[in-house]
Amino acid sequence: MSMKKRVLSGIRATGRLHLGNYLGAVKGMLELQGDPNYECFYMVVDLHTITTPYDKETLKESVQNVVIDYLACGLDPEKSAIFIQSMVPEHVELAYYFSTLVSVARMQHLPTYKEKVKQYPKNVTMALLNYPVLMASDILMYKPQLVPVGVDQEPHLEVAREIARKMNQMYGTDFPEPKRFSTKGEYIPSLKGEGKMAKSVEGSYVNLADTKDEIQKKIRSIPTATKAGGEMTPGIKALFTFAELFLPKKTEDFKKKFNDGTLQFQEMKDAVAEAIYKELQPIQEQRKKIEKDTEYVRKAIEEGAEKAREIARQTVSEVRKKMGLS
Ligand code: ATP
Ligand code: MG
Repeated sequence: MSMKKRVLSGIRATGRLHLGNYLGAVKGMLELQGDPNYECFYMVVDLHTITTPYDKETLKESVQNVVIDYLACGLDPEKSAIFIQSMVPEHVELAYYFSTLVSVARMQHLPTYKEKVKQYPKNVTMALLNYPVLMASDILMYKPQLVPVGVDQEPHLEVAREIARKMNQMYGTDFPEPKRFSTKGEYIPSLKGEGKMAKSVEGSYVNLADTKDEIQKKIRSIPTATKAGGEMTPGIKALFTFAELFLPKKTEDFKKKFNDGTLQFQEMKDAVAEAIYKELQPIQEQRKKIEKDTEYVRKAIEEGAEKAREIARQTVSEVRKKMGLS
C-alpha cells in the first residue's frame, strides 16, 4: 500500500469551467499534483450535476468538456487519477450508509442548499438535500488529507468531517477529517457584483475558453461607477479582486487613483481583461490539441476510474463489515 497522503476534488458538469473554478479549485489541484507526497483523485461529478435541472442529451458532452478542460489546465493522467463519478458506483452506496447518520434538519440549514432552493424553487428534491452526503462519500471514500476546493465548499467539508467522526465513533472506521486546501483565488466574485462567479448563473462568469474580445466585453460589464472615489460598491470591489489576482503590481496604483478620483474604470477594466486573457491563452492552445486526441482522453478516464474503483471497493467492503451488513 502506498504511504502517500491523498487528495480529492471534483467539479460539476453544469457548464464550461470559469475563472472561479480555475483559481479556487484547479490551481490547488495542480499544486498538489506537483507534490510527490500526494496521490491525487480528481473527478467530474456527474451525479451532482443531475441534482439540479439538466439536459440528458448533452450531459455526456458536458462531462467530457470538463475532463478536457482539466487536461488543458495541466492535470496529468500520469500523475493524477482523473475520472467520472458515476463510473465508480460505490460513491452512491457509501452515501446511503452515511445518510443513516445525518439529520434532515442539518442538511436543510446549509447555505448551499438554501441558495439552490432559491435558484431552482421547483426542483427541491431528495437528491439536492442529499448533495452534501454524496459529497462526503466522494471525499471520504479515498480517505484524503486535503481537498482543494473553493471557500463556498467549506460547509460541505464540515459535514464530511462530522460524518467521519460519527462513523469512526459508532463503527470504528478510520476516516480522516480532511482539510480544505485553499488558493489565493478561493472566492471569485460574480461579474454582476453580487454573489460568487458560478457556472449556473448567466452573466456571472468568464469562461476559460472565452476569446480576448469576449473577456473584454464581460469585464467591461462589471457594474462600477461613472466617477471614482468614496465607498466601493460590490462591483468595484469585484473589479479590484480581479486586479489583485491578475495585475498585482498595478493594483496599488489603481487604488490610489480610485481614492483621488482620477481612475478611469474603462482603462482599468481593459488592462485587467488583457491580463486575464494572457493567462488563459496557453490553456486555450493546449485545449485545441487535446480536443482532437479523443483516444488520449478516453484512456485517461478509463485508467483513472480503474484506480479509483480499486480503493472504492476496499472502503465500501470495510464499511459494510463494520456496519454489520456483511
Ligand atoms: P454551479 O453553479 O453549477 O454550482 P460552480 O461554478 O459553483 O457551478 P462547482 O462545480 O459547484 O462550480 O464547483 C467546482 C469547484 O469550483 C469547487 O471547488 C468550488 O469551490 C470552486 N468554485 C466554484 N465557484 C467558485 C468561485 N466563484 N470562486 C472560487 N472557487 C469556486
Ligand atoms: Mg457550485
